[in-house]
Formats: sequence, structure tokens, C-alpha cells
Amino acid sequence: MERRLFLGGLATVAVRAQAAPGPHQLPKLPCAVDALEPFIDAKTMEIHHGKHHQAYVDNLNKALAGQPALAKMPLDTLLAQLDKAPEGIRTALRNHGGGHANHSLFWNSLGKGSPVAKGALAKAIEASFGSQKALEEKLRAGGAGVFGSGWVWLVLDRAGKLAVETSPNQDSPLMTGKRPVVGIDVWEHAYYLKYQNRRPDYLAAILQVLHWDSISQRYEELSRG
Ligand code: MN
Repeated sequence: MERRLFLGGLATVAVRAQAAPGPHQLPKLPCAVDALEPFIDAKTMEIHHGKHHQAYVDNLNKALAGQPALAKMPLDTLLAQLDKAPEGIRTALRNHGGGHANHSLFWNSLGKGSPVAKGALAKAIEASFGSQKALEEKLRAGGAGVFGSGWVWLVLDRAGKLAVETSPNQDSPLMTGKRPVVGIDVWEHAYYLKYQNRRPDYLAAILQVLHWDSISQRYEELSRG
């Protein structure tokens, strides 16, 4: 008993020393890692979420250590006001804070659900792009055109209109005053295990597993806010 208590005490110390202190946490995936098969394979989901996204969270928390005011700030606000952050940690916040925000949105846009947008989003897509098919074509072309690593986005711009845009690295539309509705990760780590260099095949696949029910709901929340 004593020994167990003693080991327990050591274990607590070890855990504290390892875990990056900080307010941000890896969110759970909204679906099982194999839920998107055969479009997105389980191994990619596992590594992408458990290793890549976890690293963004850990490095964001490291950058925020010793910055109590910034550590308390909601991530969206932090990213929208990067210019106010201390210069020494600005790049880390941009890369890892962006990475955490982008992936959190990404997971919550995926799943097997309605293949088309609903309600207010369906109407807005028709008004801005003509049809859902035309929007998907823009996302596909945008994603294929990103040089190197980055994202293709459906955003609400400052005027509240829908637009498709791309960003390099882990930059988020939040950094330029826009609100992301959907983001598609086009980093190689998002597809290389299954699709190797064939990013267009990955883009065609990911468009099959965008969860338009949750995306439509997010749009309504963003439009209200
Ligand atoms: Mn990624």
C-alpha cells in the first residue's frame, strides 16, 4: 500500500513534467477513426488527429506559458489579434494556434451525413456560387492550386458573404477578419498514406465526406453571431 502510494506520487510528478501546461486541449474526434473509410483511411485519421493535431496543441500551450492574459483568451480572439501578441511568440501562435483552430474545425466538418447543404446555407450557396456543385468545383480547384502546404476555405467575409479562398501553412481566415465555415486541409500529412502525391484524388474523396448537416448548422450560428 505504501509502495503504491509512493509510486503514485512519483507518477503524478512524471505526468506533470511531461504534459505541456496550458489551457488548450486536443478535442475528441466527432466520429470513429474508421468512420470515413474508404475515402479517408483510419491510419491517416489516427496519426493526423493523435500526432499532428496534438503537436499543434502542445506547442501552442508551450508558446502561451508565462502569458496568463493570452492563455485565457478564446483561440478565435487570439488569432484575430495576433498583431497584439508579443513579437517573440507571434509566429508560434500563428502556426500552432492556427493549426489547433484549423484542425478543430476540420474534424467537425467531416462525417457521413447529408451530401448537400441545408436551410440558410443552401440558399447562400446558390446566391454566391449558383449551385453546390459549382462551390465544390471551386473548393477542388482552390485546394489543388495551393503550392506546398495549406488549406482551402469556404468563409464568411467581412460583409457576411460566402467566398472560397486559400491560405498557406496553418494561417486561418480568422487572422484576416473572416469567419471559416469549412476548411479542407491540403497538407501532405492529410492524404499521403493513402493517396501519395495524388492531391486531386484526395480532394475528390474529402468532398464525399463533408458533413453538410454540421456545416449548415455552423453557418447559421456564424450568421447569427
Ligand atoms: Mn493537418
